[in-house]
Amino acid sequence: MPELQYSDYYLPRMAHLKVEATYACDRGCPNCNRFTKLAPSDGLDDLDPSKLDDMLCKSARIGKIWTRITLTGGEPTMHHAFEEIVRVMMRYKNRHNPQCHATTFTYHHPVHYEKIERMLRKYPDLEVKDTNKSVPERHVFAVCMAPVDDSKYGPDHIYRGCHLGCRLCGLGFDNSGFYCCSIAAGIARVFGMQIAIPSIYGVSMDALIDQFRHVCPKCGFYNLCRAKDKGREWISPTWRRAFRDFNRRRAAARGTSQTRCARTPSPRSPTTSRHACGCAPACVDSRSTP
Ligand code: SF4
Ligand code: SF4
Repeated sequence: MPELQYSDYYLPRMAHLKVEATYACDRGCPNCNRFTKLAPSDGLDDLDPSKLDDMLCKSARIGKIWTRITLTGGEPTMHHAFEEIVRVMMRYKNRHNPQCHATTFTYHHPVHYEKIERMLRKYPDLEVKDTNKSVPERHVFAVCMAPVDDSKYGPDHIYRGCHLGCRLCGLGFDNSGFYCCSIAAGIARVFGMQIAIPSIYGVSMDALIDQFRHVCPKCGFYNLCRAKDKGREWISPTWRRAFRDFNRRRAAARGTSQTRCARTPSPRSPTTSRHACGCAPACVDSRSTP
C-alpha cells in the first residue's frame, strides 16, 4: 500500500461547519443527499441544541475558530428547537467571532418560514440561504449509487474524499459528532456506522481522513455519478440493503416486530396525517432501481 501524503487527499475545510439540525424534510426531492425521503427522520436523531452549545464553547476555549457555520439538514426549521439552535449559533458569533458567517438553509417551508422571519427580526445579521424550492429539486448527482457497486473501484481502491464534499462543504456535525463532510453524516446515519468523532478535542485531519474509507465507498458524489433521469431515485444494491436495514433498525427501536415502511409520518411534520416526504406511501424495498 503506497504511503499517502495530505496532498493526495481532498482535505476537509476545517474552519467551515455544516450543522445537520435535523434529517426531517417534507420537500421530497429525488436523490436527496440527506436521504430524507428514503430514510425519513423520526426525530430521534435531531440535534440536541445543548450539544452544539457545548461544542462551540469548547471550540472557543481551545482557540478553534469557525469562520462559517451553516444550519442545514433536512429542513432546519422543522427542528422543534430551531430557534434555540439559531440562538446558540448567534451567541457564538457575537461572543467569539463576529466575522463568522452564521447561516441557515431553508427550502422555504410554507408552514415554518415564519420562524426564519422571527429570527431575522431578532438577529439581523443571520444569513439565510433560501433555496426556494416550490417543487422538489431534481438533483444532478445520484448520491445513492455507491462506488463499491461499480467494478471500476476494486477492493484496493484508496478513497480520498472529493472536491464537492470536502472543499465546498466543510465539516459535518450532527447529534453523533463530527464528520469529514456533511454528506458523510447522513451516510453514517443510514448505514448505522459508528464513526463520528464525538468531541471537538478529537477532531484532526488524520481522524477526518480516516472516515473516507467508510463513507466515500458508499457515496455517488465520489464518482460524480449523474442521475440520468433526475425525476426518479437512483439506488444501487448497497444502498438498497442499507435502507432495508435502516427500516428494520427503526422498526426494532419502535418495539414492533414487523418491518414497516420507512416513510412514517414525522412527529415534527405539520401534516402528521401524511408521510414526512409528502409523497404517496410506498416502501423502499418496492422502489425500482436502475
Ligand atoms: S429540500 Fe430536497 S434536497 Fe433539501 S433536504 Fe429536503 S428533500 Fe433533501
Ligand atoms: S462522503 Fe461523499 S461527499 Fe463526502 S468526501 Fe466522500 S465522496 Fe465526497
